[in-house]
Amino acid sequence: MKRIVILGAGESGAGAAVLAKKEGFDVFVSDMSKIADKYKKQLDDHQIEWEEGQHTEEKILNADEIIKSPGIPDTAPMIQKIIAKGIHIISEIEFAGRYTDSKMICITGSNGKTTTTSLIYHIFKEAGYDAGLAGNIGNSLALQVAEDPHEYYIIELSSFQLDNMYDFRADIAILLNITPDHLDRYNFEMQNYVDAKMRIIQNQTDKDAFIYWADDPIIKRELEKYDIHSIQYPFSELKEKGVIGYIEEGKYKIEKPEPFNMEQESLSLTGKHNIYNSLAAGIAADIAGIKKEEIRKSLSDFPGVEHRLEKVCTVRGVQYINDSKATNVDACWYALEAMKTKVILIIGGKDKGNDYEPIKPLVKEKCSGIVYLGADNQKLHDNFDNLGIPVRDTHSMKECMEACYEMAKPGETVLLSPCCASFDLFKNMEDRGEQFKTIARSL
Ligand code: ADP
Repeated sequence: MKRIVILGAGESGAGAAVLAKKEGFDVFVSDMSKIADKYKKQLDDHQIEWEEGQHTEEKILNADEIIKSPGIPDTAPMIQKIIAKGIHIISEIEFAGRYTDSKMICITGSNGKTTTTSLIYHIFKEAGYDAGLAGNIGNSLALQVAEDPHEYYIIELSSFQLDNMYDFRADIAILLNITPDHLDRYNFEMQNYVDAKMRIIQNQTDKDAFIYWADDPIIKRELEKYDIHSIQYPFSELKEKGVIGYIEEGKYKIEKPEPFNMEQESLSLTGKHNIYNSLAAGIAADIAGIKKEEIRKSLSDFPGVEHRLEKVCTVRGVQYINDSKATNVDACWYALEAMKTKVILIIGGKDKGNDYEPIKPLVKEKCSGIVYLGADNQKLHDNFDNLGIPVRDTHSMKECMEACYEMAKPGETVLLSPCCASFDLFKNMEDRGEQFKTIARSL
């Protein structure tokens, strides 16, 4: 019997364990931290052996294959030992892909993954398709393949998941954009991160589809290096040579496979970045043969996703917007770009090797104040103190919101779009967004 060892018992690891057990492997799960009760129960229910708070080398290094949680970096000592021993390391998605023939719609990009994935899922479900939501968005693909199979899977893929994917093939691959992110996990080499993202098209054949943003300079450059076999569906905000999805004279248009159009103003998601997300989602739905009326309806009634440009409330004429998910500089750029009023920008957190230059012109144009929110705000001081905009230095959401309340004038917007990860002061980006919303509503 082949032995599979799973490192990390979160959603993906615990799910992979269930599938591996079902497929007859000898399965062992090891997690350096404490395993959540929900996943312990899942493992126990399937009689899967596990350990927490440690990695027992003898039980790990005798594996035939390792499934690694996307959260574990390659620099972790245990991973280094596994690599040295030459044991193959894969991701949960790669593993699950071996045991299903269902259609895989895979979405990656530096920004817009969750929004686009959720929007596609919404269109498919509303149209009555049998679809499962999986990947980075928080549901295990492997668990669904094992226990609740679907005809289609709509899968959000992070670069960390793509890193350990080799034979997996997406029937529809979507690449939204590539901008610097997570460089701390890629040896601060942008090309390593770009290579991970480009894996979304690996193994595609002439029956598969590749949807991508045609204006992205990095994607454009990379595509010249690849021999692409799949049918290409490039989209852009404007109609230009070769793109098949665009906005023209107030109309949202898709040229192929089935010509489709609708009024741009009927799209439920607003902001330039969401035009791209809506185009990518519409093209995927069109390829899957979903009826035009269904696509139109779902693109216009999609409620949006929490923590992404989420309108929270208006207090004394000041609007509060929660974009806690903007954990990199590019996401914040799009959030600022979408703002119609002057902005008090809340920025800061755990820096991931950020270069703030790209947002400075927009910050100067749109911001009437900046509030730094982080354990260490020095880099923000170095970058933004000299723009001639009032700044405040804060170290908790309470302090930050008090500063915003004092600074914001009626008609302005307080925007939490922090460019950084949240782990310095918060449990995660959801916790940061929730704290922002709770205090905003109590002002
Ligand atoms: P991801 O899952 O890739 O992190 P989300 O859909 O959660 O992306 O959106 C994260 C943030 O990125 C949003 O708050 C928004 O400000 C920004 N964003 C969303 N879509 C795009 C896009 N297509 N291009 C650039 N920025 C985007």
